[in-house]
Amino acid sequence: MRLSQMLFVTLREDPAEAEIPSHKLLLRAGYMRRISSGLYAYLPLLFRVLNKISDIVRSEMDATGAQECLLPQLQPASLWQESGRWDTYTKAEGIMFTLGDRRQQELALGPTHEEVITAVARETIRSYRQLPVHLYQIQTKFRDEIRPRFGLLRGREFIMKDGYSFHADAASLKQTYDDMYQAYSNILRRTGLAFRAVEADSGAIGGSGSTEFMVLAEAGEDEVLYTEDGRYAANVEKAVSLPPEAEPSPFTAYQKLETPNTATIAAMVDFLKCSPTQVVKDVLYQVTYDNGRQVLVIVSIRADQDVNETKLQNALTNLAGEYGGSTVLALEVPDEEAQSKWATKPLPLGYIAPDLADDYIGKGENLAPKFLRIVDETAVPLKNFATGSNESGFHVVGANWGKEFELPQIRLDVRTAVAGDRAIHDASQILKTARGIEIGHIFQLGNKYSAALGATYTQEDGTEAPLEMGCYGVGVSRLAQAAVEQSYDKNGIIWPVAIAPYHAIVVVPNIGDEAQMAAAEKLYAELNAAGVETLLDDRKERAGVKFKDAELIGIPFRVVTGRSLKDGKVEVVKRADGEAADIALADVVATLKGWVQEAIQ
Ligand code: ATP
Ligand code: MG
Repeated sequence: MRLSQMLFVTLREDPAEAEIPSHKLLLRAGYMRRISSGLYAYLPLLFRVLNKISDIVRSEMDATGAQECLLPQLQPASLWQESGRWDTYTKAEGIMFTLGDRRQQELALGPTHEEVITAVARETIRSYRQLPVHLYQIQTKFRDEIRPRFGLLRGREFIMKDGYSFHADAASLKQTYDDMYQAYSNILRRTGLAFRAVEADSGAIGGSGSTEFMVLAEAGEDEVLYTEDGRYAANVEKAVSLPPEAEPSPFTAYQKLETPNTATIAAMVDFLKCSPTQVVKDVLYQVTYDNGRQVLVIVSIRADQDVNETKLQNALTNLAGEYGGSTVLALEVPDEEAQSKWATKPLPLGYIAPDLADDYIGKGENLAPKFLRIVDETAVPLKNFATGSNESGFHVVGANWGKEFELPQIRLDVRTAVAGDRAIHDASQILKTARGIEIGHIFQLGNKYSAALGATYTQEDGTEAPLEMGCYGVGVSRLAQAAVEQSYDKNGIIWPVAIAPYHAIVVVPNIGDEAQMAAAEKLYAELNAAGVETLLDDRKERAGVKFKDAELIGIPFRVVTGRSLKDGKVEVVKRADGEAADIALADVVATLKGWVQEAIQ
């Protein structure tokens, strides 16, 4: 491609809307244009990058025996109602764009395709003989994200590869899951990114085991906790660890003490001169289930620890059946206004005890009459602890479970693991923290969707069973930007060779010089013919502008038909390290071809 004929517009200044380097650079270098919040036009250079990523994804998927297909982006509400996710996706997370058609039928723009593919499986898979089978597609997805930001990292429209596998049993599912783990590792290795595979929360999608593939970068929205021995890595949403040991309690007898102005843990431990590890804090939550039922929850946890709301939400989802619901629509710490809707009298905020009386909860059709009491594992072993007294300005000390307080029946790990904690697998390993951009996520779904939609098959013994399912997603457009976030310098993007829009750029410093133009044209033709994808900068611009642009757009190898031409040579510069060498005209093609092959493999 000749730059003189391309829609090639770079910006001198950083665009105001962009906060992180990769976002700024992709805009400045003319790879994309913002159309609206979370919506981008992918211009030709970016489209080439996206296609290269898609090709790598495709080749790794095909190598596992998965087959490519293309599913509709418009999906009927009825399928989502069958799976039970319509409310979660339209109300709770509210992430799905919905619309109506001329017959007043409700539709959604696909944020993901479990429902559609399960409907396909229900129609087409009859027998165990057809299993296992794995279909994937590369397609634009739509999500009405709460906070679209960072360009392609969190768009409202983005490209994803999503795949879904169907199996006769858990062992076959595990096999495909392991194959996907390998395929995803290969994809990231081939695209040239530094990544980590981590244990992940399965969230609203349901199911058991899942792994996320994180590209390591400071701008990442996810936190990863890992150990240096390489044996543990998990998303903080899911991570478990050993909390620091609790200090022995200084209290020996049960007592209620006046503790004025100690509604915060910091003020309270300061006043009582004790460690927060000897305090049980009681945190109030309000959960709304999909049937409208509201439940007030008290979580008792060691006061130096924090509640992990992802873990809590999962626990509450598992308890949904007891309240006649199936999913959590909202989980919040009730503010004054929310409290006023159900509390019969002012709550002793900051002084709540594990046994806060149920008569604080008013009567209401949709209101569970009793608190749901949960104790985090960290609070269970405490002896002679301090906690609230249910009376403002007072705490109790020297309390014990089974004596002054009944231990809540629901005992769970709902604490947030933090860097510095000891690892579960080896207490001498200390958890470290890193930021990551989630690029891929693989799940073992089990039969959640197949059971809900009635996608069954006939087993070898003639009986019917729901299909076992797995699902696997890679953010193709997110990956493109994550690559930039991991690889740039003050002059611009440094593409990994495998996903660069072009491998090389031939820069003609002075297009008025016939010798320069002739050499450049020849190289341009020969390089492309040899499979080295090459741009020709034949614009009527100053040499300095051309060099700057070549660096900004991040093409791996730059060939300059400049001064050394008189010796039959051209200057070749590597974008990654700026290393420059004069190479004889006759050797340029073979040299670059070698470098490209070496980098891509
Ligand atoms: P996140 O937690 O970042 O919102 P997710 O858990 O919703 O991601 P999945 O539903 O597992 O993501 O989607 C699979 C992949 O699609 C993700 O790993 C990510 O790479 C990509 N992806 C998800 N949401 C977006 C988005 N809004 N913009 C760009 N890529 C996205
Ligand atoms: Mg998301």
